[in-house]
Amino acid sequence: MLTRNQSLKILLVEDDLADATLIEDLLGSFSESLFRLQTVKSLEMGLACLEAEKFDAVLLDLSMSDGLGGSEEIAVLKARSPTVPIVVLTDINDDNTALSLLRSGAQDCLVKGRFHRTLLVRAIHYAIERQRIEEQLRQQAIRERLLGQMIEHIRSSIDAASILQSTVAEVRQFLKTDRVLIYRCQDWASQLDGEEQKGAIVAGDGLPLGYIENQSISAALAVSCFFLVESQSVQAIADVSSAELAGSCKELLADCEIAAVLSVPIWQSGDWETAFQRRQGIVLEPEKIAGAAEDDLWLPALAKPQAQGSSAPDLRGENGNSLWGMLTAYNCSGVREWQQWEIDFLQQLANQVAIAIEQSQLYRQLAIANQKLQELATTDGLTGIANRRQFDRVLMLECRRLARQELPLSLIMFDIDFFKLYNDFYGHVGGDDCLRQVAGAIASAAKRAGDLAARYGGEEFAVVLPNTSAEGANVVARKICDDIASLKLPHARSPIGSYVTLSCGIATAIPAEEESPDTLIRSADSALYQAKTEGKNRICHAGRNARRLEPASCQTMSASAD
Ligand code: GH3
Ligand code: MG
Ligand code: MG
Repeated sequence: MLTRNQSLKILLVEDDLADATLIEDLLGSFSESLFRLQTVKSLEMGLACLEAEKFDAVLLDLSMSDGLGGSEEIAVLKARSPTVPIVVLTDINDDNTALSLLRSGAQDCLVKGRFHRTLLVRAIHYAIERQRIEEQLRQQAIRERLLGQMIEHIRSSIDAASILQSTVAEVRQFLKTDRVLIYRCQDWASQLDGEEQKGAIVAGDGLPLGYIENQSISAALAVSCFFLVESQSVQAIADVSSAELAGSCKELLADCEIAAVLSVPIWQSGDWETAFQRRQGIVLEPEKIAGAAEDDLWLPALAKPQAQGSSAPDLRGENGNSLWGMLTAYNCSGVREWQQWEIDFLQQLANQVAIAIEQSQLYRQLAIANQKLQELATTDGLTGIANRRQFDRVLMLECRRLARQELPLSLIMFDIDFFKLYNDFYGHVGGDDCLRQVAGAIASAAKRAGDLAARYGGEEFAVVLPNTSAEGANVVARKICDDIASLKLPHARSPIGSYVTLSCGIATAIPAEEESPDTLIRSADSALYQAKTEGKNRICHAGRNARRLEPASCQTMSASAD
């Protein structure tokens, strides 16, 4: 806002000597200090003046001999000096002309010969004020657009580490401060749980080397966090050296080369129930989960209710929110009066960052839950190896893949001999334990990449061996049977020996395109059947052409063991 005592530098662009003299007389009648008038006789000279120095306002004659006339003249001036207020002086006394001049960028319009001194002075002052307000609105619009872009940027990503980093970089550029950082305050709740989460700078821009590790900086930032919680507000210090600060705060800030600082809190919902309910509303996007930050940064930071009688500081605000951390911008030297819009701007960004952090935590938890679900869906609960569903899926995929590559696929099916008798004697708990041991032996024998050991059902197991010949499959089957034999799992009711034994059927084929895996399963199953009928505890191969179910050839384990 202008005061009447301010000296205003006015550029008069007027080629008519009489008109120029009149204006000079009108403004010159004030004391020297009120208006400093510079007159030029052509538009070109006016433009050169605006280029060379700064003027508070321009009085522009619209009927210049070198002028373009009307709106274009104003446009040319505004292009050269966008923020200078223009008062047009014209011979045309017509409202429409005046309006179109205003729309072109002029701040006021006076008709020559129809204004006196007071009117001219008022027009100049109004023009300056209008231009100022216009500029303010323009700046506000720019800020809002920028804030919108930054918020959009924050929302479009769930890679929290990159959100924080780009936020500090953009804030620093926009506020033109020396340093900007995001500090995550100490999580006292996790400390109570025994896994201490120390306060730390998690993103920074303009920070010198070694700054993040500096202990006194961490201490200063931790103090600021407590201030934010206590004040439930922001910390805006224009001049640290003259500010009234509690305790050692001033020294700490000075140690960190902080001369003027603005810190805003990053709050997080402390209401676990609400957070959980909000969690339910989240739609899972698999590609986002794949990119979810695995950084430790995203361990839950919400302050859980404090333990009774604990001396840990309470970082919760009045509304039950807890302080996750803060967004801090500061200058290393000099005074900086923080503007209200700067404070609002930073707080709005901090709120968005808080949402992004919370969402990132939720995505992480969901990703973990999903992974667990995936494991549950593909694993056999009793033995811990792949279940039937996973077996079906993998066999189908391998059939298709090896059909394309024209390579052999082997399938081994195992069945524990006399397992009903085993159960009858040792009970179901003993039976379950036996199944686990057999599963373990099978899984550790099928260890090439692509091999799959699965529980097919009951006391039957299967091993899928991609790109493996009948001979190769035989080696694996024998190893499994040998391993079981060396486990010496007692089987007091077995009619064929003292220990648990397996019968085993192997089928090998180069799968045909479009063929279902059922053919291979049937072949292996019939080889297994043959092993059973020939006396158990043996390995039988389906005929060379598994698809035609040729008669199986069998080898007993006792014979092979020698
Ligand atoms: P064979 O030598 O011909 O294979 O005879 P078997 O007794 O092993 O086969 P049968 O199919 O007659 O019996 C299989 C038994 O496996 C029946 C059932 O009690 C047992 N069984 C199936 N699933 C489980 C399980 O999850 N846990 C336990 N403990 N037993 C199971
Ligand atoms: Mg069976
Ligand atoms: Mg059996």
